[in-house]
Amino acid sequence: MSEDRRILQEFKLEPDNELRFEVESKNEKVYLTLKSGLAEVFGTELVKAKTYEFVSGAKVAVFTWHGCVVEVKGKTDVIYIAKETPMVMYSNCHGALEFMRTDAEKDNKRGPIAMIVGPCDVGKSTVTRILLNYAVRMGRRPIYVDLDIGQGQISIPGTIGTIALMIERPAAIDEGAIINTCGWIKGPGYKQLISSAKSFEVDVIMVLDQERLYNELVRDMPNFVKVVFLPKSGGVVERSKSTRSEARDQRIREYFYGTPKNSLYPHSFDMKFSEFKIYKIGAPALPDSCLPLGMKADDHLTKLVMLTPNAGILHHILAVSFSEKDDDDIMLSHVVGFVCVTNIDSERQIITLLSPQPKPLPNTILILSELQFMDSH
Ligand code: ADP
Repeated sequence: MSEDRRILQEFKLEPDNELRFEVESKNEKVYLTLKSGLAEVFGTELVKAKTYEFVSGAKVAVFTWHGCVVEVKGKTDVIYIAKETPMVMYSNCHGALEFMRTDAEKDNKRGPIAMIVGPCDVGKSTVTRILLNYAVRMGRRPIYVDLDIGQGQISIPGTIGTIALMIERPAAIDEGAIINTCGWIKGPGYKQLISSAKSFEVDVIMVLDQERLYNELVRDMPNFVKVVFLPKSGGVVERSKSTRSEARDQRIREYFYGTPKNSLYPHSFDMKFSEFKIYKIGAPALPDSCLPLGMKADDHLTKLVMLTPNAGILHHILAVSFSEKDDDDIMLSHVVGFVCVTNIDSERQIITLLSPQPKPLPNTILILSELQFMDSH
């Protein structure tokens, strides 16, 4: 054990204060224990005397409404107490949602659907987590929808995931849903936000940190959608490009191999080129003059193109489609899961795949993604 790991610090937090710390160094672990009072980490209440472990990469805030004493053991890279936090505002948002849920219950209507938007690194995922945890603590069963395709928490990057938080009983839509989105808010990213808001029929949009985005949404959303501006927390840590791509890699690795506490053992097998079909979504753009009558230039983005397996798809993630037919149904179908191309032998016409389940795959219609993963196991 290194000297650093024996560092023991005790912090007394006044009501509404937040202890923030980061664990940066590789292989470092930091242990947190609540000694007295009440405290929570991103909406999850800490159990007194229980020790929580944080590994490198963790950026944590221990917030208290009533005051507490906590003990931190191990080497942190940054650690300080913040007196200014936007927690009261986040809690008010929870209060408003709760009010809407009670109202919906009375009238037997569906509960509120809230969408959290804002640029990168403003705490969107954190606010989503806080609101979900608060709802669960009130005995609700909120549905969590993750549209953050870059740093999503449910499925692998590049995909959209939905999860019902409490699954001991099937979640009903009338309990309310909270939607996290990605930090792409300009141009097509903005259009995407508007279209997600429409498809999910959101009632509330919480805009973190950016007034411009807030004003655009107030202008473009119908009146019955409440748009709320929320400040970002001073504790939110900006992530560099390399941290983001490492986090994405880590998510893919976890998809195949699990986590240290919950290991998974993927399979590797060969398939003949004749045993599957690979499609790519999106064809090169054509000028309007070359398009058939009635076709829009935008249509090329969703065009399905069949590919002959080639060296270019090595290390790419392929989605296994649910579609039974190899036609436009593919565009509208869910995916069953993902595989990774770990080798391709064009001469013998054989592809090697890393897959969560053994051969045969549940379906032989595969969709090429831009995501790449180098399997180092
Ligand atoms: P976004 O979803 O907008 O990209 P995140 O919610 O993922 O942002 O926050 C970025 C990072 O900042 C995360 O690692 C998160 O744990 C950390 N973080 C968020 N709020 C705080 C806080 N109050 N104190 C310390 N770290 C925080």
